[in-house]
Amino acid sequence: MPLDVLFEIFSYLLPYDMLNLSRTSKPFRNLLMDRNSVSFWKAARCNVPGLPEPFPGMSEPVFANLCYSPHCHVCLKSNVQDVIWDLRIRLCNICKKTSTVSISVAKSRLYLKESKRLLPHISTYLVKWNDQVTDDWVRGVQRLLISDMDDVEKAWVSLPASKEGRDQFLKDEDRRFKDIEKHAEVCDNWSQNKKYDRSQELNEVRQEHLRTILRKLNEAGYGEDVTFSDKHRDVHGRDPICYHPFVRQAKPLTDRIWQNRCPA
Ligand SMILES: [Zn+2]
Repeated sequence: MPLDVLFEIFSYLLPYDMLNLSRTSKPFRNLLMDRNSVSFWKAARCNVPGLPEPFPGMSEPVFANLCYSPHCHVCLKSNVQDVIWDLRIRLCNICKKTSTVSISVAKSRLYLKESKRLLPHISTYLVKWNDQVTDDWVRGVQRLLISDMDDVEKAWVSLPASKEGRDQFLKDEDRRFKDIEKHAEVCDNWSQNKKYDRSQELNEVRQEHLRTILRKLNEAGYGEDVTFSDKHRDVHGRDPICYHPFVRQAKPLTDRIWQNRCPA
């Protein structure tokens, strides 16, 4: 295929499509991971309304992977839906435990007595009370990535011994940390809005599914049952028929599906 046609197609893709395409073959990988292809990734990101820019210092493909590829970044376990924006990573429940440490543990592991100066420059995340972690004791605790801790520590020990050099390092790290923290909040808001929009969308599909079923039941001569169910709504105003697993499905009702499920 001529490259100009390929480039035209790229302009309509979304970040998730770009990721999948880059994983289909080596030529596509080489093309899309080339620095000169950054404009395709930017265009794909702009095709998603509201999707923020990548974090400072993060490339477009890495950011797309963070936003759209639901796997653990440590062990590659699939179906990891939530991004820990503060740490810019996805972690499965096991790796949340094995790849992070609490602040108190970090203090004891950081380089000699400098831990107090280094810690404020390492991103942390708060393990929420509803987080799917295996141990209750980690809930409500600030944790940080062991790899982030190692990186900062490595940079610190390689610094020249001068006070000026170390002060400048801490100043730069402080600015970087604040930029990341601010952007993590932007990304988290975008993610929450996306989840809300998706739940609204699914709710609308469910409502349409229910309306179609009620209409078809009426047409099939079950009007009395429909009226009976409607008169016996629960305290939340929900029609009991809504609790049936078939009725609760969030997908359009086709004639073929109805033929298979229609009461005799
Ligand atoms: Zn994992």
